[in-house]
Amino acid sequence: MNIAVIGGGFAGLCAAVKCAEIKTNNVTVYERQEKAGKKILMTGNGRCNLTNADGDDLSKYVTGDREKLSGIYKNASFMNVIDFFEKYGLFIRAKEGCIYPFSNKASSVRDVLLNAAKNNNVRIITDTYIENVSKKTGKYIINGSEYDRVILACGGKAGVYKEQEFNGFKITKNLDLDYEYFSPGLCGVKCDGDFALLNKSRAEAKVTLISDSADSVSDEGEIQFTDYGLSGIPVFNLSLYIDKKILDNGCCIIADFLPFMSDIEVRGLFEYKKNAGLDLFKGLFTDELAAYLKKDTDINDLNAVTKGVKHQTFKVKGLKEYKAAQVMKGGIRLSEINDNFESVKYPGLYITGEMLDVTGHCGGYNINFAVVSALKAAGDIIK
Ligand SMILES: Cc1cc2nc3c(=O)[nH]c(=O)nc-3n(C[C@H](O)[C@H](O)[C@H](O)COP(=O)(O)OP(=O)(O)OC[C@H]3O[C@@H](n4cnc5c(N)ncnc54)[C@H](O)[C@@H]3O)c2cc1C
Repeated sequence: MNIAVIGGGFAGLCAAVKCAEIKTNNVTVYERQEKAGKKILMTGNGRCNLTNADGDDLSKYVTGDREKLSGIYKNASFMNVIDFFEKYGLFIRAKEGCIYPFSNKASSVRDVLLNAAKNNNVRIITDTYIENVSKKTGKYIINGSEYDRVILACGGKAGVYKEQEFNGFKITKNLDLDYEYFSPGLCGVKCDGDFALLNKSRAEAKVTLISDSADSVSDEGEIQFTDYGLSGIPVFNLSLYIDKKILDNGCCIIADFLPFMSDIEVRGLFEYKKNAGLDLFKGLFTDELAAYLKKDTDINDLNAVTKGVKHQTFKVKGLKEYKAAQVMKGGIRLSEINDNFESVKYPGLYITGEMLDVTGHCGGYNINFAVVSALKAAGDIIK
């Protein structure tokens, strides 16, 4: 078969290599940048968090079609991702469930993929931006060449892209594929307020997104205060639930800086400290956070102090832009594909990775989904 893959990122390279394992297949990858796999280098802060031991836990993914996602994940697992990379020579290590290359270098992952592509005779055509895929007498036409199968693996518009437009958007539009409204995801959240006192400091907290139009969502860990609002992994995860509707209706993030204690216990602690003549916040929080918490609160009113510590409210204004985001949330609706990622409108055309309306939390879930989808699509093609 002649197989074309559009996009030489995680999904595209993995799908291409797997398709090319059948030696009679001719596989061509079209990549718009000067080199395939460029984005791999910037993932996981240069370490590439490849997948996660919880990679099959569907609660870690956000999608408009949860039922379809369960179907997709039947007979697919994060173990397929590990097996694939190990087969091509990558050593891995795990840290708190997150799986990294043993070298702790994202370049090892890219090298493994590019080597595997080379050894399996995958043709990679770089500096080539595909805008259109058409169909003629049972074959797909890309840049004047005919293909029996096509895999779309164009990713999203987060991170590296210079252009503001989603790179696969023209193809999506030309093929009339239905898509979910997209927005930046796994990014900082802009909030109202004066963050100068917090001076880019960090704090452990449980953060909860509250809005009238959706269920509340929480996460816990180290948050970071920035000049525009909130950042850090728990905030990134909440950003996946901040959509247009929630923003239009108004929402806020409540931070609890002592989540392991109840309100009554915290009040009791402050009462003890006050009676002992101690500074209420010393030994609990950074000086920056202490100054912020004291700012508009009567320090003698222990109920108000407790409220500030357990229910500090940050009104959400919006999300950071795509270039500061790790993923594009939303994308092509899952109703456009079957459980093997094949288009229901265009048999023989597969859609994979971040192009689809599936976004994972921080922790390797997005690369996991890109690779799982690629291997499943390629598996269907070569079966
Ligand atoms: C800074 C940063 C850090 C991240 N860290 C992690 C992490 O540690 N773990 C994790 O799970 N996720 C991480 N992510 C998210 C993860 O990188 C993506 O979800 C993943 O790369 C998606 O894979 P993909 O193959 O679908 O798309 P991509 O990897 O984006 O690949 C798409 C490729 O297609 C090419 N392309 C696009 N359109 C066209 C076209 N029309 N013609 C030709 N070529 C085209 C692009 O140039 C690109 O090379 C991170 C993202 C960023 C930005």
